[in-house]
Amino acid sequence: MLGLVIALLAAASPAWADIPRVLVSIKPLHGLVAAVMQGVAEPRLLVGGNQSPHGYAFKPSDMRPLEQAQLVVWVGPDFETWLVQRVARAPASLAMEEVPAMTRLATREGGVWEAHDDHAGHDDHDHGEVDGHLWLDAENASRLVKAVAEKLAALDPAHAAQYAANAVREVARIEALDRDINRLLTPLAKKPYVVFHDAHQYFERRYGLNPAGAITVDPERQPGPKRLAALRGRLKAQGAACVFREPNAQGPVIQSLAEATGARIGMLDPEGLLVTPGPDAYEAILRGIADGLADCLSRP
Ligand SMILES: [Zn+2]
Repeated sequence: MLGLVIALLAAASPAWADIPRVLVSIKPLHGLVAAVMQGVAEPRLLVGGNQSPHGYAFKPSDMRPLEQAQLVVWVGPDFETWLVQRVARAPASLAMEEVPAMTRLATREGGVWEAHDDHAGHDDHDHGEVDGHLWLDAENASRLVKAVAEKLAALDPAHAAQYAANAVREVARIEALDRDINRLLTPLAKKPYVVFHDAHQYFERRYGLNPAGAITVDPERQPGPKRLAALRGRLKAQGAACVFREPNAQGPVIQSLAEATGARIGMLDPEGLLVTPGPDAYEAILRGIADGLADCLSRP
């Protein structure tokens, strides 16, 4: 009798206990993983709220979710440098930058105004060889979605069909988003602009945009006066229409640049600091960037 009850209970809750606990480092990736897991479970987000993933200060309270996780999804050692040692102890992990066929671009220096003497004496914690903002290429996002579905299916075969169906739906959604953004930005492709930190290289390549530069490679660091003077010169010479601030960077640097050059101030949120986490977050982040660019650059 007891055996029958146990068998019935087991049948009623198929493999519930086997659903993997998934931890995702940053919001854009968390949105993609949440879409793959929709209807099964919710992944946990490590860097939430409006905290920047750059120079993130790992807290003691982050230790527990990390220890409980059966799968950690992150960009990889070129982006969340603060996670490298800790992720090594997780039972399973998936680094976006290591997914096969992922488009990876080197961190920019020349075209952006990160003078070499700005680097001297610092160690550049957040940006290694590969530009870690991989999610800003829509095709890369689709590659991650497929890789996550495969990884989850291996860890949780009972829900493999659900993960696969979710992945197909999410990829279709990303492809539609990609077409929309392409339509929106194509007429603005020639307009030069300046961003706050050099996050948008993947996005700019994909949609053929014409960035004049970035104020900083590392958003945690303010540019020096020499660099700002060079920036003002470049902005004037190229006739950049807009300078884009970010949620955590709206200070006097951007204001004075805009005033000195007559450029308008727009806003971009490449890491989704103001976006609500969940399965719609990825689309919201990409649409937000596209709309932010279009709003400012399309003004006469
Ligand atoms: Zn960034």
